[in-house]
Amino acid sequence: MVESEVNLAKTYDAIVIGSGAAGGMAAHVLTSHGLQVLLLEAGKKLPIEKELRSMEWPYDNPYRGQLPPDSHSLSFNEYTIRNPPYGPGFEKAKHLKSYIGSSDYLKNIVVDERENPFTGTNYAWVRARCLGGKTNIWGRLALRLSDYDFKAKDRDGFGENWPISYSDIAPYYDKVDLYLGITGVKENLPYLPDSIFQRPTKLNCAEVTLKDSLAKMGRVLTQYRAGVTTDGLKHNKYRSRCYGRGACERKGGCDIHAAFDSPTGLIYPAMDTGNLALRTNAVVREITVDPQTGKASGVRFIDNQTMKDYVVHAKVVIVAASTLESARLLLLSKSRQHPNGLANSSGHVGHNFCEHIMGPGVAGRAKNLVGKPSTLDDGRPGGFYLTRFRNLAEKHPKFIRGYGFEGGSGSTMFPRGTDAHGFGAAFKEEVRKNQGAFVGMGAFGEVLARYENYVDLDPFVKDKWGIPALRFHYKFGDNEHRMAEDMKETAQEMFEAAGFEIVNVSGRVLTEGWSIHEMGTARMGSDPKTSVLNQFQQSHDVKNLFVVDGSAFVNASCQNPTWTIMSLCWRSCDYLADELKKGNL
Ligand SMILES: Cc1cc2nc3c(=O)[nH]c(=O)nc-3n(C[C@H](O)[C@H](O)[C@H](O)COP(=O)(O)OP(=O)(O)OC[C@H]3O[C@@H](n4cnc5c(N)ncnc54)[C@H](O)[C@@H]3O)c2cc1C
Ligand code: SF4
Repeated sequence: MVESEVNLAKTYDAIVIGSGAAGGMAAHVLTSHGLQVLLLEAGKKLPIEKELRSMEWPYDNPYRGQLPPDSHSLSFNEYTIRNPPYGPGFEKAKHLKSYIGSSDYLKNIVVDERENPFTGTNYAWVRARCLGGKTNIWGRLALRLSDYDFKAKDRDGFGENWPISYSDIAPYYDKVDLYLGITGVKENLPYLPDSIFQRPTKLNCAEVTLKDSLAKMGRVLTQYRAGVTTDGLKHNKYRSRCYGRGACERKGGCDIHAAFDSPTGLIYPAMDTGNLALRTNAVVREITVDPQTGKASGVRFIDNQTMKDYVVHAKVVIVAASTLESARLLLLSKSRQHPNGLANSSGHVGHNFCEHIMGPGVAGRAKNLVGKPSTLDDGRPGGFYLTRFRNLAEKHPKFIRGYGFEGGSGSTMFPRGTDAHGFGAAFKEEVRKNQGAFVGMGAFGEVLARYENYVDLDPFVKDKWGIPALRFHYKFGDNEHRMAEDMKETAQEMFEAAGFEIVNVSGRVLTEGWSIHEMGTARMGSDPKTSVLNQFQQSHDVKNLFVVDGSAFVNASCQNPTWTIMSLCWRSCDYLADELKKGNL
């Protein structure tokens, strides 16, 4: 892909900031409407296939797939006992990575924590600064939200409803399914609507045992709904169909792009229209405003490598830097007309920040599979998803909202959960005997969107580019902790009911941020006093400014956010293109 030079003399129809799921989708939709779009990405365009090397065997890697010795990735304990920005105590590590950056394949994708500091309460903030952002390495679980989420306040009185219903977004979920490809099985669940699925993957033996046992409890286990094309996409020459190579296991992307990533799924096709200019290494530091009208006039960015400053203009500015970076950018963009930061007359920018709580789960053994020959169980992009079952028909006495479990079973390249001890031939035999019998799952639960959970700018700490860092004021609350206790109990109960031998039950709650599902820092709503954006992710205050990533979410639901981010973004960009044509922006 040839990057175009930014034309500083030109006024683009639209500037999109960030090239992940949201920015890529904005680029795709707006260029297909014929708009002249400039896409600005803070990181590099990486030779991604060389980075990922999905089929490399561990013994062909000098570090067996681990980080080089001069680098360190933060552990659970380090997140809980050390304070960001991780100064003393880490002197030996030249490069410091978040917990997800523990492999050699991700070292250039995930940011260096020292160059990108943040402060405040503990938070495992995972960022990928490169073309495509986190979509290069995401876990691909692609779920829809429903009116159980959009109208959650009607059910339990907490928070706010979204200004949209499922029927508003459903046609856009369909478009995303068809354009990007998704695998799964229809279940007809009102609280987890079906997608337009391609060929499904298969559940393996222990997973079927669990599914059947859960059905007796009225609970639903379904195939992992993955944002992966299993049938291929005739309209996209950059992506292959999934060959079930089993490399999905190795948190580190898919080098044949069967799994959705923003560059091959959205950005390269958008460039083929001739309407997209791409500038990487462009760290946007401010959205500029017209002093007369107070409307957005463009952006100021700094070159990642040369540190040179640039200003570029557009009729519309679209913020898609990811939930936390987008909030940071709005707060950084202070002016006479917008002294609180851009789009922030409500004071809600950075607030109502929410995500998913993780940690509790269970690992066990399907007794009937111990000692059986190995099977190819990781030749697929995911195992199973056990759907939400709390606070649907009945009210749980201890907490509101819900959680689901992601899990899998069987043989993998590196045996899991065998709990084998010892050494030598006996140890090997123990591992071999048990590895195909493994079954495990972990929960993801809704963290309530509360005003008092927020981010703002640190008055002192700056990043490598001299831009003020983000400061966290964020903690799980009582509802989340009570939900986590229930996750642990139900996980054990369900494995026992399935007849599995339990190897480990964990109730440990992982550090805030672990789920990498950030949402809510510029929520949408009908009232400009209590929300930042309208239902089309358009700022209430600045009509030619749109924020199209997870920032707009009103609550977190317990379903993973990326498919919803892209569907909402598509809907908003259709509206934007129409409004621009009508001269309303
Ligand atoms: C390991 C992992 C597993 C995951 N699993 C799942 C899953 O199973 N299901 C799911 O739904 N989601 C999952 N996610 C989350 C998913 O990746 C995100 O929801 C999605 O990528 C969000 O898209 P985004 O565009 O908002 O942000 P990103 O993908 O992070 O993209 C934002 C882009 O903006 C750029 N940027 C930031 N600041 C600036 C700036 N100032 N100027 C210019 N550019 C800027 C960044 O460099 C980045 O490229 C996972 C994430 C990770 C890391
Ligand atoms: S299993 Fe499919 S989606 Fe996963 S890495 Fe292999 S080809 Fe890609």
